[in-house]
Amino acid sequence: MAKTGTLHDAFIDELRDTYDAEKQLVKALPKLARAASSADLRGAFESHLEETRGQVERLEQVFGSLDEKVRGKHCDGIAGIIEEGKSIMEEDFDDGTMDACLIAAGQRAEHYEMAAYGTLVAWARAMGHTEAADLLQETLDEEKAADQKLTSLAEGGINQEAAAAKDPQEEDEATPAASRKKTATRSAAKSSRRR
Ligand code: FE
Ligand code: ZN
Ligand code: FE
Repeated sequence: MAKTGTLHDAFIDELRDTYDAEKQLVKALPKLARAASSADLRGAFESHLEETRGQVERLEQVFGSLDEKVRGKHCDGIAGIIEEGKSIMEEDFDDGTMDACLIAAGQRAEHYEMAAYGTLVAWARAMGHTEAADLLQETLDEEKAADQKLTSLAEGGINQEAAAAKDPQEEDEATPAASRKKTATRSAAKSSRRR
């Protein structure tokens, strides 16, 4: 059977997938911002939300430059990453640990997007879609900067704050009653809370 699918078809598919991914992120980023305790981290999520809205519009320009209708196609990859982020927000971590985990979740999304845009730019260039390639490169640069911002927040204090946070259950180690309570609480606690 003749195979008719081309790189151009795959490219349009990837654009639709990425368009949908950005739209999912427009909904998810406010939740990450709300869950953050650090004002700087909340600010980083909020400013990347604004940037993400611009990325949705930029993808609409890309479709336009290719004479393609603007269309999304459900992105399972980012949906999974967002789902994992939601589970983290349900944990009862101390504030510093939660912030460290929100950064980890955010960086998974940024890296997924960097992979997607890296491919899109390379394919657009290979096919001579220069206008599309330049637009996609702008977004790729924004995703890389957003990732670096999260790294600098993590390494600039949030990870240290999380590492220094005391386990409240270990503070009342002294009294036997508290110790018994601790043991009971521990066995009930999710193993993921323990290092
Ligand atoms: Fe994005
Ligand atoms: Zn996807
Ligand atoms: Fe992003």
